[in-house]
Amino acid sequence: MNFILWDVDGTLVYNGADAGNLYHDALEIVVGRPLGDRLPGTHGKTDGQIITENLSHFDLDPALHPLVVDQLDELSRLRHDAGNHRELCPGVASALAAVSAGGWTSGLLTGNSAARARYKVTGAGLSADLFDWEHSYFGERDPLRTDLTRRARAELPDARIVIIGDTPNDGLAADAAGMEFLAVGTGAFSLDDLRATSARVVVADLATGLPGILEALGDGTR
Ligand SMILES: [Mg+2]
Repeated sequence: MNFILWDVDGTLVYNGADAGNLYHDALEIVVGRPLGDRLPGTHGKTDGQIITENLSHFDLDPALHPLVVDQLDELSRLRHDAGNHRELCPGVASALAAVSAGGWTSGLLTGNSAARARYKVTGAGLSADLFDWEHSYFGERDPLRTDLTRRARAELPDARIVIIGDTPNDGLAADAAGMEFLAVGTGAFSLDDLRATSARVVVADLATGLPGILEALGDGTR
């Protein structure tokens, strides 16, 4: 079986307008006090990396990490239940159907926890059944995205694995584990930024870019 491991933010769903605030809010709830200005720059980082950087920046005990993860899941659940959903990127539903028809199994490889990823994809209108959750990789603990791709490679040593993502970090993580990388420009990075990566193909979005993606993928059953 061959796998496409999809990034979530900026790839399947558009980034949130207030990306980054949720981490800060979760941290403040855990420590029970305001923490000053939030850290910028979360795109392409795992939740594990963002939490680690925040704990260090605010001189907090690294042992708080699992509590922040739990609180982040809870804040995501509250958002989801309140109807605060992410918007699906163009062409995603058709692309998932097309790659499935081409023999590929779709999983997720994301810096989010499994719970947060599920809220985001189902909130945007996708069925959770479109993804193989047993072969999906989540980064709420791992500070490096390469940890996720290396874990996937170790579990699926003989599979062809393709990462589809929206940041240069997705490409670096794919490179580190001997995976192919295809880039989509619906996130925070420009097409030129993405062309400077190892991406075999760079498309503006999954609607207009689907033929190029499918051509690069070829037959998933081989
Ligand atoms: Mg992303």
